[in-house]
Amino acid sequence: TQFFLDSHHPRRPVRTDAPWLIEDETGRRIGYEERFLLGACPFGNLKIRARTFGFANGLALRYSIKEEDVVLIFSPNHVDYPPAIWATHRLGGIVSGANPTYTAEELLHQIQAVKATLIIAHPSSLHTALDAARAAHIPSDRVLTFGQSTQPTVESIIQLGLSNEAAFVERRLKKGEGKTKIAFLNFSSGTTGKPKAVAIAHYAPIVNVIQIAQYTKVNETYTPWEEQRFRPGDIAAGVLPFFHIYGLVFSVYAVPFFGMSLVVTPKFNFTDFLRSIERHHITHLTLVPPQIVLLCKHPAVNNYDLSAIRFLISGAAPLSAELVNQLMKVIPNAQIGQGYGLTESSTSLTMFSVDEKIGIPGGAGRFLPGIVARVVRPDGSLAGFDEPGELRVKTPSLALGYWNDEKATNETFVEGWLCTGDEVIIREDKEVFIVDRLKEIMKVKGFQVAPAELEGCILDHRDVADTCVVPIPDDYSGEVPLAFVVLRASAANRMGKDSREVDKVKASIMKHVADNKVAYKHLAGGVEFIDVIPKNPSGKLLRRVLRDRARQLKARE
Ligand code: AMP
Repeated sequence: TQFFLDSHHPRRPVRTDAPWLIEDETGRRIGYEERFLLGACPFGNLKIRARTFGFANGLALRYSIKEEDVVLIFSPNHVDYPPAIWATHRLGGIVSGANPTYTAEELLHQIQAVKATLIIAHPSSLHTALDAARAAHIPSDRVLTFGQSTQPTVESIIQLGLSNEAAFVERRLKKGEGKTKIAFLNFSSGTTGKPKAVAIAHYAPIVNVIQIAQYTKVNETYTPWEEQRFRPGDIAAGVLPFFHIYGLVFSVYAVPFFGMSLVVTPKFNFTDFLRSIERHHITHLTLVPPQIVLLCKHPAVNNYDLSAIRFLISGAAPLSAELVNQLMKVIPNAQIGQGYGLTESSTSLTMFSVDEKIGIPGGAGRFLPGIVARVVRPDGSLAGFDEPGELRVKTPSLALGYWNDEKATNETFVEGWLCTGDEVIIREDKEVFIVDRLKEIMKVKGFQVAPAELEGCILDHRDVADTCVVPIPDDYSGEVPLAFVVLRASAANRMGKDSREVDKVKASIMKHVADNKVAYKHLAGGVEFIDVIPKNPSGKLLRRVLRDRARQLKARE
């Protein structure tokens, strides 16, 4: 990847006087040209390159990281996160980012699924990382931290690497190899079941940035950089987590590619975020809908100068037309619109059209160059314009499939087509509208929640005989999970008609989930008892029936 960012194509002027990264809390600027004081390294004395080299060399010397080894990063965003990715890639390794608020059990699942051999944590997530590492039989000295801790630090490994001769051979990809060599293992549940590791090749995020770059040309002709959406010297907010494909492609790949600077923020806190926009003169925001709800509704917005914002894109979940209209009043100078994509398409498939300052309200934009799309009716035939159906796409940024899971891969990646599991309508003007989700997952604050995962957890509760988890709409989070539960006979008898006992059992099921899962998976939609979970004759859960029933229940409240 770093070679992609290093290469100075004449049409891609890299600003050497602007920082690549800005640490939000401290304002520390990490430049491309900044001199690294510890002396020479074989790749020049440029700061980011030097740190990347140092880290790669240190990883090779201390941990013998090599081809195909998986390094798991369990951390909030950090200025050393991108160099950690590039360093791992230089050794031929694979990076798997995990949500730093995961419980030890969730992290253990990811460690085992990707067979990670080294964990880079953050002091704030260290305790969980050590618990999960112990359970996975990873020696504790193979858990590093970005900041100071009792563990080996990333800084110490970088210094080790920089004070030694190169102990590794740079892993360069042969022509064409970028399309098959795995760079990332990111997690997604796809159309059904539990979260799975999506194998993403080096080529995929890079080509996605090129697709975005081509799309930003106005009227098919080459436009000077000054008139384009992304310009050298622009400043982007790096609040989206790097462990998710949306944050990874935009912040770690696109922003440096366009010669922009990235303000790296570890944790989203709304008033701190407003302060950062003002302080760093942030021009570009890539956000998810709940953050936009706050921008539209939070009174603190009036206390900050947001006039630098020129561009805002929302993705990962639907953004309503009403919010777009409200947002136009909050940041009147900005271009505003949506993008749409999946981990499996690493990442963007559509973006709001460059012809409009404001994307079509409710629309997800138009396809990026190089994408072929089909809308398929339930009977498999092709739908026409303005007719709903499942979106299937071919894109150069397609993931390779689910890692070590041929069955799931064959279901979702069919003869080069990605079955998105999203119901869409494409209008004649090519605007794409995401109208519903045909797949099981729900999106809470932009994060995937897999009903199958929560159902597995709820079934472990001693009072539960059967369960089905469905989404209900939520103004802030977009959706939240609600569990329909069939109780074991013993629990049902105990409960009888005693409403206090009913509340107690509901609370205990919710607590069970809260104890085992990260916050956005908690049962914020509540628990509803039911006599039997509706199933079709072959035993398949009729989720839609319960989803509709949940919506009715909530509408009545
Ligand atoms: P993920 O793999 O976590 O990025 O989730 C991908 C899914 O998020 C898609 O299949 C959609 O269901 C949903 N999604 C992403 N972007 C949008 C959008 N702009 N509008 C509606 N749903 C979206």
